[in-house]
Amino acid sequence: MLEVSGLVAGYGPVRALDGVDLTVAEGSITAVLGVNGAGKTTLLRTISGLVAAKAGTVRLAGRDITRAAPEDLVRQGIAHVPEGRGVIVELTVEENLKLGGLWLRDRPWLKTGVARMFSLFPALEQRRRRRAETLSGGERQMLAIGRALMSRPRLLLLDEPSLGLAPRTAAQIVATLESLRAETGLTLLLVEQNAGTALSVADRAVVLNLGRKVADDTAASLAADDRVRRAYLEM
Ligand code: ATP
Repeated sequence: MLEVSGLVAGYGPVRALDGVDLTVAEGSITAVLGVNGAGKTTLLRTISGLVAAKAGTVRLAGRDITRAAPEDLVRQGIAHVPEGRGVIVELTVEENLKLGGLWLRDRPWLKTGVARMFSLFPALEQRRRRRAETLSGGERQMLAIGRALMSRPRLLLLDEPSLGLAPRTAAQIVATLESLRAETGLTLLLVEQNAGTALSVADRAVVLNLGRKVADDTAASLAADDRVRRAYLEM
């Protein structure tokens, strides 16, 4: 589904990604792990066109998307839930969801999609007319995911969905993502600093350190790898 090869990106002189290769299989959950500053966020931002690649390629289902604009990528099936969630706090829950579906230009879907998101996240339905600023951290994360799903993605990029959430809330969100994958075959690329949470749901994981990939294996093998855990993960 997604093939990243030799990807280099950064900010001015800072090389946040320094030749990263990554393959994400269709229908899989792949975790991107590593400590603060490893380049995880930059990897997602470069895949979704928000940061320009300086070298390397990104392919989606075989098509080169390295220099595509973010809005084209949404149409091609990539949705990105940024760190810090990125919902628009002045808008209601329902308005935020509809916003996520606007690029599709499919009016009937706006209605059915919103209903689908409410069945995935019942807590949001009760708050549909409230402004997003009144939501708890967990509800905001659900809303951000719901908004991304409104663009009917094939590939969902998630940046630290469990950041700042109570463990139970984080587990609930992760469980929803897992059932979504099982039901719809959605492909997920999940950035997490909390390696335990990510490895519990992921099929595969890569570990980044200072912009380079230092491990790439099944989630089960990585969870059992003491060397990697001690050197690069906080677990
Ligand atoms: P975090 O979990 O803190 O977001 P990360 O693994 O996602 O960490 P990145 O945010 O991708 O890492 O950062 C990689 C490197 O790029 C770091 O050295 C960081 O300081 C630098 N960096 C990130 N964003 C910017 C920016 N807007 N301008 C300059 N440097 C940046």
